[in-house]
Amino acid sequence: MSMKLGIIGGGQLAWMMKDAADKLGVELIVQTPSPNDPAVSIAQHSIFAAVDDAAATEILATKCNIVTFENEFVNLAALSLLEEQGVCFRPQLAALAPLLDKYEQRCYLRDLGLPVPQFLALSGEKKLESQIENLGFPVVLKARRHGYDGQGTFIIPDFATLSKIVNQTHSQFLVEEFVPFTKELAIIAARSVNGEIVIYPAVETLQKEQVCRWVIAPAQITQEQSLQIEAIAHKLLTSLQYIGVCGIELFLTAEGKILINEIAPRTHNSGHFSLDACETSQFEQHLRAVCGLPLGNTRLHCASAVMVNLLGYENSHCDYQKQRQQLANIPQATVHWYGKTEARPGRKLGHITVLLDQDHTNGVEDIIHKIESIWYPQ
Ligand code: ADP
Repeated sequence: MSMKLGIIGGGQLAWMMKDAADKLGVELIVQTPSPNDPAVSIAQHSIFAAVDDAAATEILATKCNIVTFENEFVNLAALSLLEEQGVCFRPQLAALAPLLDKYEQRCYLRDLGLPVPQFLALSGEKKLESQIENLGFPVVLKARRHGYDGQGTFIIPDFATLSKIVNQTHSQFLVEEFVPFTKELAIIAARSVNGEIVIYPAVETLQKEQVCRWVIAPAQITQEQSLQIEAIAHKLLTSLQYIGVCGIELFLTAEGKILINEIAPRTHNSGHFSLDACETSQFEQHLRAVCGLPLGNTRLHCASAVMVNLLGYENSHCDYQKQRQQLANIPQATVHWYGKTEARPGRKLGHITVLLDQDHTNGVEDIIHKIESIWYPQ
């Protein structure tokens, strides 16, 4: 009998599990709001409901052996009742609990002794000015929950802007120091049911307006920095007793210091290169980890690789066939198109990975430039 895996969320991260699921003989059942969501086309069965609809997850759980997540905006309290009744969540809910609120996540990391930017939670009871006096501007304001792709993250130049946003919005906020990083880095790590941990090569990522534009694997960092990042991943996953794949976003400062920006308790955009460039993709790795299989090799099978996101730049129903064809003609390129029926500015519609034979310091900017000039209107 094949393993049946329930996935909460049916976006591109679930869609990209298809090949691995076929290879490993895992049936996928998704819980996702809309029949137009990417993973509906690859799932054996879909339940159309919001990801935080725990009643729908209860139905999902009756159809599968294990429930996992491609989206963490769930109702943890309601899911806990299901876990108590015997539903097997992987990662288990106790591993997700400290991560879902950005303030609580920062506290968890700090208490583990891991390096994070200076931060605090804004309290409505104290004067705003006195709360942030140790930080200095700019500061970074983040909605504590439900932020993604920069939604809910604001770089704030001065006090007037800060108080305007805080007073106009009803969200709970985390405020932290602005880190003048020289590079943004990320790493994908996975932990198995038996506690085995594997780690992918650290990558360099570039965000524009807080949305990832491209990723280069491996990152050009020192061996010491790479070991430090791996140690962070080990400590975190072990402490959480985490099962599955997890993305860790980091800052590298001019002094060579590493600080953690954010933990994503799932597969992550910074690991998409692994589909084409690694022996085991992050999607296969996640399935292996949550289904209790041995983990796969994380090695790159090329010298380096670049992944460029294809972000929407207009409201449209176009399928961009012509641009996709031009992109696919780039040597050693693979285009992954998520099949979304609607394009919107900033929406992730697909990505392209180009494998590079020689060390990527030569020519990678030209490749990124070529891709972006084919994709974005001039
Ligand atoms: P999201 O959860 O929406 O992805 P992040 O917290 O990861 O939001 O922030 C998105 C981007 O904003 C980061 O990749 C980085 O470029 C920038 N950013 C976030 N926090 C800071 C910070 N403390 N200092 C400087 N830049 C930051």
